[in-house]
Formats: sequence, C-alpha cells, structure tokens
Amino acid sequence: MGKRILVVGGVAGGASAAARCRRLDESAEIIMFERGPVVSFSNCCLPYHISGVVEEEETLILMTPEKFQNQYKIDARVNSNVISVNTEEKTVQVENTLTRKVTTETYDALVVSPGADAIVPPFEGIDKIDNYTLKTVPDVSKIMKFVKGKNPKHITVVGGGFIGLEAAENLRERGIEVTLIEGMDQIIPFVDREMSYFGQAKMVKHGIEVVLEDLVEGFDTRKVILRSGREIETDGVILAIGVKPSTDFLKDSGVELNGKGYILVDENYKTSAKDVYAAGDAILVRNQLTGELFPLAMAGPANKQGRLIADRINGRKINNKGYIGSGVVKLFDTHIASTGLSEKMLKDTGIDYEVVYAAPPGIVGIMPDAHLVFSKLIFEKGSGKVLGAQFASTGAPDKRADVVATAIKAGMTVEDLFDLELTYAPSFGTGKDVVNKVGYIGSNLNEGAFEQVRFSDVYDLLEAGEQVIDVREVCEYEAGRIAGVVNIPMSEMRQRLGELDKSRPVYVHCRTGERSYNMTLMLKANGFDIKNIAGSYEFVKAYEEMMCYNYSTRKNIMIGDCVGCCATLENTKF
Ligand code: FAD
Repeated sequence: MGKRILVVGGVAGGASAAARCRRLDESAEIIMFERGPVVSFSNCCLPYHISGVVEEEETLILMTPEKFQNQYKIDARVNSNVISVNTEEKTVQVENTLTRKVTTETYDALVVSPGADAIVPPFEGIDKIDNYTLKTVPDVSKIMKFVKGKNPKHITVVGGGFIGLEAAENLRERGIEVTLIEGMDQIIPFVDREMSYFGQAKMVKHGIEVVLEDLVEGFDTRKVILRSGREIETDGVILAIGVKPSTDFLKDSGVELNGKGYILVDENYKTSAKDVYAAGDAILVRNQLTGELFPLAMAGPANKQGRLIADRINGRKINNKGYIGSGVVKLFDTHIASTGLSEKMLKDTGIDYEVVYAAPPGIVGIMPDAHLVFSKLIFEKGSGKVLGAQFASTGAPDKRADVVATAIKAGMTVEDLFDLELTYAPSFGTGKDVVNKVGYIGSNLNEGAFEQVRFSDVYDLLEAGEQVIDVREVCEYEAGRIAGVVNIPMSEMRQRLGELDKSRPVYVHCRTGERSYNMTLMLKANGFDIKNIAGSYEFVKAYEEMMCYNYSTRKNIMIGDCVGCCATLENTKF
C-alpha cells in the first residue's frame, strides 16, 4: 500500500495537488475533501455566468467526483467539511455537511488548500436587503435566482477589486443599472491609481456609477446607506469587499498561522507541522523582489503550488523563486494588466526607482482597431532592473505584462527589454513593440540621456508660469490642448528656437511621448535646460478626466479634445 494523502479543498490548489500526486505515484491512496457540493469548478468564470457569456451553470464545473475516480483514482468527497486537524496523531476530522456525521481519517501527508471566504461584516440592516457574495457555484446560483426571479432594475456592488469589478461589468451587460462603491481612492487595487482610471473610465462610459472614497455604513429596505450620508435606492447588493483565509479548522492544530489567519509555509510549502503542506489563497508567499511575505489570491500560483507540493511529497526537489504577482482584468473592451511591484507597493521598501510613462500604439496605426497602450514601467535606478509594469488598452496589454513578467522573473533590466525579439505583424503589434519601447525609454532615462517630470506635474508647472511647449502639429493643438501651453510643432521647432527663453527650463509634451522625446534631445543638444513631460498629452487628458470625475471641484485645464484629427497621426482609438 502506498502513502495515504489527504487533501483539504477540491478546487485550484487542492485538485492540482491531488492529480499530480496520482501522476507521480500510482500506489498512493488519495482522498480529497471539499465542503461544498462540487469540486474543481471555475471560480474565475463565475461572474460571466451572470451576463450569460457562460450560458450554462453546469459548464462552470470542470470535474466531478466520478471523473476524479475514473480518471485519477482519487476519492473526491463533496459536502465534506474538515473541521479539525491533529498534527500529532496525523488525523483529520471530517463532518458530512448533509448528515452531520463526523469521521476521523489518518494521513501520511496532508495538503491544505482551503482558499479564502468572502468577508461579510455585520452591517446594520443587512437582513433587510437581498445581499450576495460571489465565491462559489451556489453563490452564483443564488444571484441568478435573484436576477431572473425578481428582475432587479438596480444592483449595488460593494468593492472595486477584481471580483467586484467583474460582477459589476456582467450585471451591466445583463442590462441592470449598477453602482459600484469603493472605499479607497481607486478601483483595481493591483495597479496604481492613474492606471486604474482607464478601467474606471470604461465602466463610467458603460453607465456604471463608480463611487470612490465612501464606505457602506448599513442597509435598509431597498437602500444602501453610505458614510457620506448618501442613500442609494437599490434592489440588491453584491458584497465583494475582500476575503479572509478559510483556516479556522487549523486553529490549535499546530499549523502556524499569522494574526490574520494566513498559513505560514517554508520555501517547500511545508507548514510548521510535520507532513502538512499548504497552497493557494490561504498561504503567505515571499515576494521575489522585496523579500516580504504577502497573500497572493490568484489561480496560477495556487495551481502551481499544488503541483509543487505533490512533487515534494514524492521526494522531488522544487525550485521556489518567490512570487511577483501578475494580474489582468477585463472591463468591457478595455483590459488592465499588471505585473511585479506598483509604486504603492514600492513606497516603504527603500528601493530607489524610476518610472516610464508612454502611450505607444498597440498595433500599426493605419490598421482597423488601432489603439494606444497606456504603459507604465518601473525599474530600479542605477541597475536598471525591471521591477514592475502596468498596461491598459483595448488591445492586448496582457501580452505586454506577460513579457515583462518573464523579464522580471529572469532578473532582466530595461536594456534587456529593448533587446527582446518579439513577434510582429501589423495586426498584432508594431516593429518596435510596446515592451521594446518602454525598454528604450527606461534605458535612456537610466543612462541620463534626458530628464523628465510626470504628467501630473503639469498643473504646478502651469501655475508657476513655466514654459510648457506642446510639440504636436497645429491641427492637433487646435482640436484639443492643455490651457496655457505654447504650441511649437516638432516640424517647426528648429526654425523657432528663438521663441524659447533659454534662461529658464523648458518642458515639452506631444501626444504619446515619442515626438517630445526627440525634441528633448534636440533642445538639450542646443543648450536648453529641457525636461520631457512623461506620459504626454494622452496621460494628462486621462488624469484630468479622472480628477474631474472623482473630484468635481478640480480645475479643468483641458481645452477641447484631441482624438486624432490629423491625417499624419496614427488612429488613436482607446
Ligand atoms: P479555492 O480554489 O477557492 O478552493 C478552496 C476550496 O476549499 C473551496 O472550494 C472551499 O469550499 C474548500 N474548503 C475550504 N475549507 C474547507 C474545509 N475545511 N474542508 C473542506 N473543504 C474546504 N484568479 C486569477 O488568477 N484570475 C482570475 O481571473 C480570477 N477570477 C476570479 C473570480 C472569482 C469570482 C473568484 C471567486 C476568484 C477568482 N480568482 C481569479 C482567484 C482564484 O480563483 C483563486 O486564487 C484560486 O481559486 C485559489 O485556489 P485555492 O485552492 O487556494 O482556493
């Protein structure tokens, strides 16, 4: 008889561990306990059932206990809640959630991948309103019963993380009015605020009301009450305000947890208890770049950890380099992707970093569906080591984030990014891909070829009466501009140098940063104290829109709007 391996949790980490254990050892006895009624379902597709993109609920379920038995000889037991673990005696207690019968099972190795539960605080009046969470198949069943049965006109989603965002998008796609409430000053917490706006803008354009920096105080009949005093008439609520690890059953088991209930594991995913391993949303992982421990609630890492635990149980060496965190979210036709460290994460690390902003075309500008890729790259000053990147576009920002993620895992620098040989044909990219371009800019910055200020500094520059020069062509300037800037097009700059005051700094922008970079080098060579406005007009425009939408008191510095009127411009649909 082989090893007796018990697995707690029958979805991402747990199912991966169980299947890999079987692949590595035909003689093992493998039992997987799942407290819910189904195993191995697609959590990530749950929101898409609300809109009907995933039509049938059954298709959310990827494997059944029968399939596990027939294909892998794994005993997958549903409705089986593991209620305690005794790590000295190497036993677990399992309660059948239908019959309440409790049994005890012994193990040689125990894998726990219990995931995390949705947090539902005891809000005042919560029982007066239809309220839901979105974590499991039964959760989505209840939501579907509600939307089909009660035909709600308006739903409030609480929480601007990816579950809340996807819930909001899919409710809206179903034709339901949606208000999304987020307590922070941005949605999409895994990117920096200015990058999150590209997603927020798309939600607003699709009719979703996004309320930032306000909190739910309580509920009443068909009403959400916010801390600001505002009351929102609504037919129901989806709560997506965060998760907590489902580790109550491990309390007093000898498995070490941190103060928030996350399981502490070593580099082999072994817990503090002998022969007990843990994976997924319930563990803390080490950040490859900062060395810090952090929770990483993503499917890819959970699956990988399950696999590696099986390797370890079967005596294989594993190579855990740590995690950088990569994610992507779809908001209608806009996609926001990120990898590595954001500026928010870098704040207290002491790492000296530099930021590249650019908005290069995602594919060749004269092709249908041409678009810009709003890009932010973060690297360590001096070494040039790539630390993180965020991309937003209607095209394929995920592809760019994936390339940068690979570069970060490999310890590459900004110079390495521009050296990458990436695929190109007009429908897919440009001769110099977005990743190459941000690599060029980062590399130039790192070697001190030019200086920059951020697009958000434009407000202060204008207020201080600084020379801010727009080097776009006249037709672009006339179609839309930043109030108070002077237009000297790139095509005329060499003849009009005399119009600039050489005794003072000059700040230049174009539309996406490429022309202004050229002008920065030319003006520097001509003896000017010159700084490029990183992100250029497109980022200023988005930033201004963000400030106006979220804080309506903000002064509007934009005159008109430029959406690519000039025939010389690439088509700029965002
Ligand atoms: P889970 O996959 O949640 O599995 C844990 C299982 O353990 C649960 O089924 C639970 O019922 C069971 N369990 C818990 N305690 C016990 C117990 N005591 N006894 C028995 N069983 C128990 N990630 C991405 O990377 N991309 C996405 O687009 C994405 N979208 C998502 C959308 C939604 C709506 C949700 C909910 C999650 C999404 N995720 C996404 C996150 C991803 O699904 C999780 O990170 C991943 O599933 C975590 O794997 P896990 O094994 O830790 O937990």
